[in-house]
Amino acid sequence: MRFGKFLNRLSLFNSLKTDKFFWLYFYVILSYNHKKVLILLWTMSSDNYWKMETGNKVIDEAIQGSATTLELKENGSRKVYIESYGCAMNFSDSEIVASILVKEGFNTTNNLKEADVVLVNTCSIREKAEQTIRQRLRSFQKAKKAKPEMIIGVLGCMAERLKHKFLEEERLVDIVVGPDAYRDLPNLVKQVDEGKKAVNVILSKEETYADISPVRLLSNGVSAFISITRGCDNMCTFCVVPYTRGRERSRSPETILNEAKELFEQGYREVTLLGQNVDSYLWYGKDGLKKGYKNLSNEEKTNSMNFGQLMEQVALISPKLRVRFSTSHPKDITDEFLETMAKYDNICNYIHLPFQSGNTRVLEKMNRGYSREWYQGRIDKIKEVMPDCAISADIIAGFCSETEEEHKETLSLMESVKFGFAYMFKYSERPNTQAAKKFEDDVSEEEKSRRLTEIVALQRAHSFEANKAYVGQTFEVLIEKVSKKSDQELAGRTSQNTVVVFPKEDYKVGEYVMVKVDNCTGGTLLGKAVKN
Ligand code: SF4
Repeated sequence: MRFGKFLNRLSLFNSLKTDKFFWLYFYVILSYNHKKVLILLWTMSSDNYWKMETGNKVIDEAIQGSATTLELKENGSRKVYIESYGCAMNFSDSEIVASILVKEGFNTTNNLKEADVVLVNTCSIREKAEQTIRQRLRSFQKAKKAKPEMIIGVLGCMAERLKHKFLEEERLVDIVVGPDAYRDLPNLVKQVDEGKKAVNVILSKEETYADISPVRLLSNGVSAFISITRGCDNMCTFCVVPYTRGRERSRSPETILNEAKELFEQGYREVTLLGQNVDSYLWYGKDGLKKGYKNLSNEEKTNSMNFGQLMEQVALISPKLRVRFSTSHPKDITDEFLETMAKYDNICNYIHLPFQSGNTRVLEKMNRGYSREWYQGRIDKIKEVMPDCAISADIIAGFCSETEEEHKETLSLMESVKFGFAYMFKYSERPNTQAAKKFEDDVSEEEKSRRLTEIVALQRAHSFEANKAYVGQTFEVLIEKVSKKSDQELAGRTSQNTVVVFPKEDYKVGEYVMVKVDNCTGGTLLGKAVKN
């Protein structure tokens, strides 16, 4: 892309989003269907970068509200503007939506005013998510006034719950589409063209979008996400995912392996296998819900593939392809899987294992399916099989009826495990969850804040301790980007998922390099490359 054109787009974005402080823009060029595709991304204020996670859904603040754009296609006639919120799975879904619509002759655009179809991919995790989306829809309505033929649609997790409100009561949208119905989007647009409102929020028993190779919109060209499951069967009482994304289905290993191989051939050096509960992955030869497995014959069951076996196949693609996964569930992570992890150097020594609470009664109330002792047992096994494996967690402060003693058990579990990193939250009730229906949200805001402050302070100390222990050691680092602070430095991650910054010298993004760590901060290791 020429620089002048890039600047034009930059000023255009600023005029669209004046309510934000400052914007970071960047773009990448990828090869898609043998054509060069330009991906232009804008992010929210970069100095405000942080991540949030609730119930396995990592929310990367830097990319919230990103517009999905591909380079113009000559034969593309109508233009679609796609704005996304939420976790990695939601952004991955926007890539699928873009792929479906571009195949149907649409062009993507980052300019709301020139869009024929405006889609917002929603997330239910945030407390104020509904207000945010409503505000965005109102601003889309203003654009529609100037262009009455514009079609506005809501996608994703909020679709089912808010379909009547947005479509009929408030008349903010023309289309409502749930996470399993994206293939129907071209058809739904046609229905609106014919003067009808269009809805499809049916949750599927089979849909995994296995055959759709998503365009990599948020990738650095080195690491990419591959979705391996959709939905969740766990029914944690605080979580909306089973209701918004449906029951658990696994994607065929063949399509996962093909996608991983293609990525490796394109120069990617790291894939993260993505699912709400990856340990629960189970392919039994056909598309369908995981719960269908129990009806199979013994012979059919022997042909199935579990997560450890899938991970092994991905690891075997090349020793130069790092493999990560997110997110694990303490009740499902098996010894067999841990042994497989230990066997391959290119399966990264890092497990994100949310524990949520250190008290067994609270865990039961959350319907997590394990006790404090079980969780501690899994940690002990990980440390036995892979002594250098880094472990991170999710922690919720102040879940319904949590007492001070029970909160202290969370702190004591943290002391016992000493996580390298954690996502920590105050409990906040989500509509339609079991907790919202059955339990009283009875820990005061003040109390939740105090407990969270204690958890955060303890975790900070543990993170710093973990990083200090790495000083003096040498790690293999996969270089991911030029450092944010200096273009004379590069940044990458160790197998343990810790960020390392070191002088650039002649090293390049996408290469592996051995780095000796000589200093650290709470979140980053600092060092210098050493020759092998
Ligand atoms: S219900 Fe599923 S997605 Fe939600 S927190 Fe539990 S395991 Fe995670």
